[in-house]
Amino acid sequence: MTLQQRYQRLIQRLKAVSTDCQLVAVSKTFPANDIETLYHEGQRDFGENYVQEWYEKSQALSALPIVWHFIGPLQSNKTRQVAEGAHWVHTIDRLKIATRLNDQRPESQPPLQVCIQVNVSAETSKSGVAPADVATLAASIKHLPRLCLRGLMCIPEATDNEAALEQQFKTMQGLLQDLNQQGYGLDTLSMGMSADWPLAVQYGATHIRIGRELFGQRDHA
Ligand SMILES: *Cc1c(COP(=O)(O)O)cnc(C)c1O
Repeated sequence: MTLQQRYQRLIQRLKAVSTDCQLVAVSKTFPANDIETLYHEGQRDFGENYVQEWYEKSQALSALPIVWHFIGPLQSNKTRQVAEGAHWVHTIDRLKIATRLNDQRPESQPPLQVCIQVNVSAETSKSGVAPADVATLAASIKHLPRLCLRGLMCIPEATDNEAALEQQFKTMQGLLQDLNQQGYGLDTLSMGMSADWPLAVQYGATHIRIGRELFGQRDHA
């Protein structure tokens, strides 16, 4: 199958289960050409994980009105390019990063759309805030005028234990509801990847982030 065919198949599958869940095409490790191919199929939202790699592709594709989602771990010395050129950051996991992005977001641009990353599986290797700390970070981000808090994001445990995954997606849905009961008005649950997105959609995912199902296996070499 070609990239175009995999894209159309995924769009059909997604439409069959949700009318408003958005696809973020995760293009990390794949060339700008592939992004352009999907752009011509109608895709606008792309996700990237590594600042330098994303920056080079965003420069190469600057003629296209792509919506860039930064979805990788962000070090505080690398926030500037992201603050200046990304539309979304899904991986806010501490106030220090949020504050830097806020301070570096140009006045000429709309606020940066952000999600708090939640370590919902409580794995020590994972970034993200513990579920118990989400409300505190959300309250602090609310005071940063150059950021717009949209919701929550997670990378669940890499497991085919469906019950464990369900529990984690359900926890995310509950955390978003808790914040909204406090008046946050959040509309985003960024969860679901190639291996687990249909389940994530059942638990209210509004943005699924899909790499391999579209672009194929990544070469980690
Ligand atoms: C790589 C990545 C994805 C895409 O994962 P696939 O399994 O390739 O669909 C989604 N979200 C994040 C944060 C990623 O790093």
